Amino acid sequence: MTRNDGADTASAPTSDTGAPGTVAVAVAADVPGDVVPGVTVAEVAVPELTAPGVPVPGRDTELADSRLRASLSPSRAGDFKTCPLLYRLRSIDRIPEAQTPDQARGTLVHAVLERLFDLDAQARTPEAAREMVTPEWDRLVAEAPGLAGIVTEDGLPGFLTSAGELLDGYFTMEDPQRLAPAERECLVSVDVDEGRLQLRGFIDRLDVAPGGEIRVVDYKTGGAPREAFESRALFQLKFYALVLWRTRGVVPSVLRLIYLKDREICDFRPDEEELARFERTVIALWAAINRARETGDFRPTPSRLCAWCAHQALCPEFGGTTPPYPEGMGAIGAVVAAPAGAAG
Ligand code: SF4
Repeated sequence: MTRNDGADTASAPTSDTGAPGTVAVAVAADVPGDVVPGVTVAEVAVPELTAPGVPVPGRDTELADSRLRASLSPSRAGDFKTCPLLYRLRSIDRIPEAQTPDQARGTLVHAVLERLFDLDAQARTPEAAREMVTPEWDRLVAEAPGLAGIVTEDGLPGFLTSAGELLDGYFTMEDPQRLAPAERECLVSVDVDEGRLQLRGFIDRLDVAPGGEIRVVDYKTGGAPREAFESRALFQLKFYALVLWRTRGVVPSVLRLIYLKDREICDFRPDEEELARFERTVIALWAAINRARETGDFRPTPSRLCAWCAHQALCPEFGGTTPPYPEGMGAIGAVVAAPAGAAG
């Protein structure tokens, strides 16, 4: 890992000039009913993916389409690694979580950074980004009215200003006038473990150099100390790198985390061996999730991340009572693997 406080690294792949590229990203044509051959929708146990709470416009709508098959996103995998009970409450019980202003701000800043690259290169200035903040917020609220309740009317000016400050931070680290992202907010997916498990997730930005080198970029906007979440963030980036490697046959040369609040860039350079190992880890993780699904044994695992957990009231570690385990939540993989000759 290299930490990079300043400008863009010269060695990282960039597409410096010209119009945005058109490199295609493998997107699973996943629609309701797109299930494993020989398995009817009714037989397959339910949701794995979408975080409860106020949906993120665009992302959750698309991810919700894939809830009927064995699939894993980096967020849900990270939940299980962090605390199996957290995974259960989010993915199986689907207990709603109120979105926090920090999360709403993150959604807003991501939206502005995505749209910034719709502008001509010379027009991508800090002022232009700030001018996009209010219209983007209005658009997001129109798409997901629940967002409006997260920020009070009195607090809205300060909220929008703080989003603008995060965007100012972005311009101290990268020069978007020199970038031509190949993809933004792109949904990527791949089947692993002989088709038994689908990995999928959204990548904030993909840069593809003329020579084909790929850089995966993820923006971090959170207010929580980032040391608490860094291993989760790295897991997420390796997850994306694995999907890209398996779909394109190219190991991304750089995985980039951009911490907008800290104004710091962290670059990781994965290799094939590391991603192969990571793939085995993810498959083993899914097996562990399935075992827990069969037994209902999702143990709480307290850590400093509990401070950000919305489910303390349902957690025995905090004196709460966990609701009874929902019926019919067997192992998804067992159902998927059952039909003879199923290709997955
Ligand atoms: S409070 Fe901590 S131990 Fe309890 S469910 Fe949340 S993350 Fe797990």
